[in-house]
Amino acid sequence: MTTSGTHDWQAFYSASGMTPVINVSGTMTGLGASSAGQPVVEACAAILPHFVRMHELQALASETIARLTGAEAGFVTASASAGITLSIAGCMTGLDPAAAERLPDASGLKNEVVIQAGHLCHYGAPVDQSMRLAGAAVVPVGQSTQVLDHQLTGAINERTAAALYVVSHHVVDYGQIPFDAFVALCHEANLPVIVDAASEYDLTGFIEAGADLAIYSAHKFLGGPTAGLVAGAADRVRAAYLQNIGIGRGMKVGKESIYGAIAALKAWEARDHAAIRKAERQALDTWLAALAGRPGIDATIVPDPTNNPLDRLRINVDPAVAGASARAIAAALAAGDPAVIVRDHEVEQGWIQLDPCNLLPGQMAMVAERLAAVCEAASGGRLTEPDLTVWRNQSVDSYLTWGR
Ligand SMILES: *Cc1c(COP(=O)(O)O)cnc(C)c1O
Repeated sequence: MTTSGTHDWQAFYSASGMTPVINVSGTMTGLGASSAGQPVVEACAAILPHFVRMHELQALASETIARLTGAEAGFVTASASAGITLSIAGCMTGLDPAAAERLPDASGLKNEVVIQAGHLCHYGAPVDQSMRLAGAAVVPVGQSTQVLDHQLTGAINERTAAALYVVSHHVVDYGQIPFDAFVALCHEANLPVIVDAASEYDLTGFIEAGADLAIYSAHKFLGGPTAGLVAGAADRVRAAYLQNIGIGRGMKVGKESIYGAIAALKAWEARDHAAIRKAERQALDTWLAALAGRPGIDATIVPDPTNNPLDRLRINVDPAVAGASARAIAAALAAGDPAVIVRDHEVEQGWIQLDPCNLLPGQMAMVAERLAAVCEAASGGRLTEPDLTVWRNQSVDSYLTWGR
């Protein structure tokens, strides 16, 4: 294992003057979301100089989305978050262009959208805001840790336009109505079900299980450009697509993102998933070895909480023995050069996680070396504990202090 020699990915940072970042946290908006592969890069570059009929380009996308998801149709938008807003708007307006132009004024339209209380998460912005942007009224069902069938059926009335189901490690993972039962109850009431599957590898399962619309990010596991994919029943997709004459304008997707997303889907189809899993496993084993026998550090391989075919390394830290908390270790890794950004949203439980899915060549060994160095520093008492209040609020404070 060596970190000597410069890798291709490092040249970008010298040329741009930005801080080198190794992303072991997952596909995070704050880190640029995704590393696009060569076919995607080439597709984006190929279309940029040219004029195209955007409806024709979206029809190409629809064909590819339909083939990969098993849905009737699809289109590309700016992000999964935009996809949620446009899908809900489409369920409210149907194919009425005047209504689409009036939004977010929803007068005269069905505009209530039901969602289980445990699904009201924050993925970098509140999911309920992506609903309200359409002019929808959010109707939470049940409580955060318990939702029962009668609460869902009781929340549906003649003003209800749609139901939203969120699949994510961000949502409460117990006590919610399972997807199949949710779909059955909604369909009994003639209510369309929209699934936010932004971060899910499974492109077919939700459509197969009855979702009327399923939404994915192009810039997460697909490794595409920044974009969102909406897949579903043809009439529902068309109504969501219609919103581009209205509220969708501010969520405009570029031709390069549409063409790049098509390329990403085709690359996904051709991807050697077994080989990628093997490489990811090798990274986890390498990091496990780097941490073995370190006092107060207990690392284990854990599966993805929403059953994506992806394992991560969970590093439990006993601060009294390790010499520093999990939070201090995450901060020290992020403060280095290159910055190693770990998955730290559960750090208050005493662990961080390393996600191997975005590694570039040479980075696996660099992460192992940095892990070893930071653990050494911890046991030598050389790490400072980040202030808890500062740490907790940094995602927002980084906006408030940006540019200063
Ligand atoms: C990432 C994510 C989103 C937002 O996706 P974007 O494409 O970045 O807008 C929405 N919902 C869930 C569950 C996510 O994981």
